[in-house]
Amino acid sequence: MSNQITVTNPATGEVLAQIPADSADTVNAKLKAGHEAFKKFSKTTAYERAALLEKWAELILANKQELAEIMTKENGKPLPESLGEAAYTASYLTWYAEEAKRLYGRTIPAATSSKRLLVTQQGIGLVAAITPWNFPAAMMTRKAGPALAAGCTFIVKPAEDTPLTMIRLVELAHEAGIPKDVVQIVNGKGSEIGPLFTGSDYVRKITFTGSTPVGKLLIQQSAETVKGVSMELGGHAPFIICEDADIDYAVTQALASKFRNAGQTCVCANRFLVHESVVAEFSEKFAKAAAALKVGNGMDAGVEVGPVINKKGFDKIVEQIEDAKAKGATVLAGGTTNHDVEKGYFFINPTVLGNVTHDMNIMQEETFGPVAPIVSFKTYEEAVEIANNTPFGLAAYFFTDNYKRGIFFQENLDFGILGWNDGLPSTAQAPFGGMKESGIGSEGGIEGIQPYLETKYLSIGNI
Ligand code: ADP
Repeated sequence: MSNQITVTNPATGEVLAQIPADSADTVNAKLKAGHEAFKKFSKTTAYERAALLEKWAELILANKQELAEIMTKENGKPLPESLGEAAYTASYLTWYAEEAKRLYGRTIPAATSSKRLLVTQQGIGLVAAITPWNFPAAMMTRKAGPALAAGCTFIVKPAEDTPLTMIRLVELAHEAGIPKDVVQIVNGKGSEIGPLFTGSDYVRKITFTGSTPVGKLLIQQSAETVKGVSMELGGHAPFIICEDADIDYAVTQALASKFRNAGQTCVCANRFLVHESVVAEFSEKFAKAAAALKVGNGMDAGVEVGPVINKKGFDKIVEQIEDAKAKGATVLAGGTTNHDVEKGYFFINPTVLGNVTHDMNIMQEETFGPVAPIVSFKTYEEAVEIANNTPFGLAAYFFTDNYKRGIFFQENLDFGILGWNDGLPSTAQAPFGGMKESGIGSEGGIEGIQPYLETKYLSIGNI
């Protein structure tokens, strides 16, 4: 296994840290420790676990500036976004601290008077998580919050690009009083740690946020030991704008949904579908607003769009822009980069493309970058058909003040998360999950704790 991970700042190319990768033996020892710790931790009361989660959240908020600076340096997102993520990270812990107290069972009326039937829920065991670099902190607590609330122990492998945030987050968990073996971290390459997680008998649940191909691999690997899997995978979100929409408002939401985190979220708007009667107005206003966004190092004041994460991401986005241009797209904003392959910084200026056709790669593949393709539609049936014509089914957005149209979209879009006149629907108290190849299960809300629970049924006889 590789034994070092080099963490670099995507805005400057500066090496931030060299951290040791865990050996297979260390990973296995931590898995065993997590399994052993479950025996005791699962017997704590919901109130004890809630207090630990609340304390952890409190420490995250008390240290949010430090956490946010680590995030901005290793991920590139502007500092205000990192501060927002710190608060969002804590919100999953406080939400699940409350849910811990609501893990009710039930009694079932029996068919004979001599029996009593009871159903209880209990933590599933050791949970192994693999998390992505785009939300280096929040994607951890969205899993660890409900897992710990349910009485599970937890081990996480962060993305190689952003391990520093996770290291600090786990330290804060321990400072909050969560035992060391109850929340653990391992570092290393996904392809090396993944099989150790999926192959271990100690692990009872794999929870993953990342790309669909890696998710499919983890599902296959988990079959061998019949592990539960929760998968938050890729998206290809349509952003539909109707003729009656408030266009200025839709532009503000489109900017937030498209360019947040430099377009690198799985719920980012990917395909702008605009009614033919308003496409000219929307395109002009949106392109103007996108061109005015300040691009730069996320640590600098006023920066709204940071770099993309690494060369691989950068190359894919540039290739999509070039492919679209070659097939006839018009560049309405951006289309340019500011990068230095030697030093390795990766800025792509917010890009808006018009005259887009369905044969362009950008309409077929997930775009993990600050590029917005616009296509027009004539009828709402056509908009839904274009929107659903993808193996993905994570988020979809629609803008209309007409309630019949809104309900039509709500009922016909095959996506797990819908924003009606809302470009930022994610929140700790609501379920976040995808249909089709976008995932299995939901995180957040009352749904988000179920994957970490086992159901136990007890039949008492001879009464
Ligand atoms: P991206 O291409 O956006 O980086 P990935 O799905 O590759 O998305 O990465 C998300 C997480 O999955 C990271 O923590 C990464 O280390 C991990 N990962 C990558 N490849 C594998 C693999 N073969 N098995 C398990 N985890 C993996």
